[in-house]
Amino acid sequence: MNPLYANLGTTIFEAMSARARANGAINLGQGFPDGRGPEDVLAEAARALLGESNQYPPMAGTPALRLAVTDHYAAHQGLDLDASEVIVTSGATEALAASILALVSPGDEVVMFQPLYDAYLPLVQRAGGTARLVRLEPPEWKITAAALAKVVSPRTKLIILNTPLNPTATMATPEELALLADFCVSHDVIAICDEVWEHVVFDGREHVSLMTLPGMRDRTVKIGSAGKIFSLTGWKVGWLCAAPALSQGIAKAHQFLTFTTPPNLQAAAAYGLGKDMAYFTGMRAGFQRSRDRLATGLTGLGYKVLPSAATYFLSIDLAASGITMGDLAFCEWLVEEAGVAAIPVSAFYAQDAVTNVVRLCFAKADETIDGALERMARRP
Ligand code: PMP
Ligand code: GLN
Repeated sequence: MNPLYANLGTTIFEAMSARARANGAINLGQGFPDGRGPEDVLAEAARALLGESNQYPPMAGTPALRLAVTDHYAAHQGLDLDASEVIVTSGATEALAASILALVSPGDEVVMFQPLYDAYLPLVQRAGGTARLVRLEPPEWKITAAALAKVVSPRTKLIILNTPLNPTATMATPEELALLADFCVSHDVIAICDEVWEHVVFDGREHVSLMTLPGMRDRTVKIGSAGKIFSLTGWKVGWLCAAPALSQGIAKAHQFLTFTTPPNLQAAAAYGLGKDMAYFTGMRAGFQRSRDRLATGLTGLGYKVLPSAATYFLSIDLAASGITMGDLAFCEWLVEEAGVAAIPVSAFYAQDAVTNVVRLCFAKADETIDGALERMARRP
């Protein structure tokens, strides 16, 4: 075995879902909605499965989906992309893997921000890169110029940004985006931007892609996921958008990871990206209602809830809720004794973890949320 994988655990999401199943716990751990997803998108997938070719689609994705991605980002984010700059992947996870494998050479340094989505670090290390980690602090989780100055070096090749950020449910502010753009341009650094949560934003907020900032159009790899946009997390249809100098090289990595992605799901994603604004605002409003239901309930039970601007998640601050346990011990107690699965935020740190924050998924039916609240009325 390669020692990196020999020494790696199973992802916290899989581990916690397995615990939830074994204990009959209510699963607010791994991020997936209770709902079925939009019926018309499902119907389009079924129609394409039965009515269209199920043979290999083109390696970079079907022309219809590549075009739909560019039209979608033109309409929603003011981006001017060409379909040739879009590569369809099997989920955002594959887009991340292909981008990191293609862009990182041994000895390159990669700036990442903790808490970090758990796939990033092993991928960077397997590619031979050296991680330079910036630790973000609750409750603001803010990126500062001073923190960037500490990790930059002549070997800095790449930054990996996730906004909106899983697990903190925060979004990069205009100042942070400007700071990062300035950093990338002045140090000749490429940005991989994991924007899978771009549509799941609340209270009238709007996602801004780092790619739209001055100097960033040709040095950003923007990653999206149909799983999040259509609340169908099992679909694993994603994409990356980047200028030809980047996307053509990344396509070479993609061709030997998966080569292609099921054509009927591509057809359905292409259809869905063309849906009108009402779908997107309705989807956000639904999740926002669920966020508020869980937040209000938890606050009523004496938990200190951190603000959630986006994603399917909110967090509780254990210390501020009067709980002295660390996040791992609390999540252990919660799944074993109270019957609710949650995610310890320390799992998103490679070192110097924040240990008093626990992530809960609110993308659930009212009954699920209410059931979890009833169980969380118990305290350790
Ligand atoms: N990046 C982030 C930040 C995520 O939260 C997720 C999934 N929750 C992914 C990537 C993976 O997306 P996909 O399921 O499309 O591979
Ligand atoms: N990204 C999802 C989450 O944060 C889980 C993805 C996975 O299970 N690999 O819960």
